[in-house]
Amino acid sequence: MSVQSDPEVLAFSAEVIEKWGGVVEQRDGRLHALLSRDLAGELQVSEEPELGASDAPLLYGSPLLDRLIGLATRDIPVAYGQITVPYLKKAGFEQLIGRDITFADGQVRVVARAETRSTYMVLMCCYTAMSDERREGLVEVGVQEASGALAPGLVEHWRGTRPEFYREGGTPPHFPDGVEAAVSAGMREAEVLLREELSDFLASMRRRLRRDVRNTREYYGALQGEMEASLSHPTLTEPQREDRKAKIRDLPLEMERKVGDLEQKYRVRVTISACAAVRLLVDVVQVMVELRYRKASRSLGLIWSPVTRRIEPLLCEQCRQTTASIHPTGRDAGIRLLCHACARK
Ligand SMILES: [Zn+2]
Repeated sequence: MSVQSDPEVLAFSAEVIEKWGGVVEQRDGRLHALLSRDLAGELQVSEEPELGASDAPLLYGSPLLDRLIGLATRDIPVAYGQITVPYLKKAGFEQLIGRDITFADGQVRVVARAETRSTYMVLMCCYTAMSDERREGLVEVGVQEASGALAPGLVEHWRGTRPEFYREGGTPPHFPDGVEAAVSAGMREAEVLLREELSDFLASMRRRLRRDVRNTREYYGALQGEMEASLSHPTLTEPQREDRKAKIRDLPLEMERKVGDLEQKYRVRVTISACAAVRLLVDVVQVMVELRYRKASRSLGLIWSPVTRRIEPLLCEQCRQTTASIHPTGRDAGIRLLCHACARK
């Protein structure tokens, strides 16, 4: 039994492999690949792997997908910068708990505050949607590098903080090396944003398809009516009449073929890839809180960012999705912090 890969993840993986000289065939929700020795070594699979199978899962957070993302983003241009602020928020974090981040249960108490620095990534993804028309564009996503959680509002606000960019060779060592988890989370969010961004495009293609299909059906309906009426024409010989009847019988099939062609014409094929990134070192406040839930307690570091002026969301400790609605679970031994969906399971 294996978990089904997302079609977009499969398409992305196939694209990366082909770009690096591999051959891929997609079958039964898996990628049957033929890889060079170097590429196989890079991905840590055999030279003829079945990607997406249970021993090589292609899922968000799976090491194989992270390695593919690593390959796909190895050569993208990255700019490094720093955001410093003259004054960091000193108090009032209690009020933000409940506004920026909520805990469904338990008691949360702020116990300490410390000024520190954290790194963020703004991932820029280019997309192309091809159908009867072509649309290209860019979606941007902000991610906290250390956790891989999304940083909502970063994309809207980072430019306004006038970051200072480091010169080549002058980047400080604060930026972590392994950012595959952050890139992976960014790509996943980019796909969500892209679906919204393309919703009018998709709707327009669906509308045109419906219109053209309706016109085609009307055309064939009228044609059939005319041809049937012409059968009673007095000058028509018997062979001619039989010939015309055969043509009338073929009409529905011909019409379905035309409709099939239209469906192909308006099918939308979307590709998205990371094309640039900005990594930012930001002065932030770490807010230490103590969470008491049932008989257990746990301390937890939350981050307040001066760029978004909010407490950042966390990662669900089960599904690794970003969430600002935290549901503590567990008894005595330890508290786990889950998202709403995982807590309900
Ligand atoms: Zn979850």
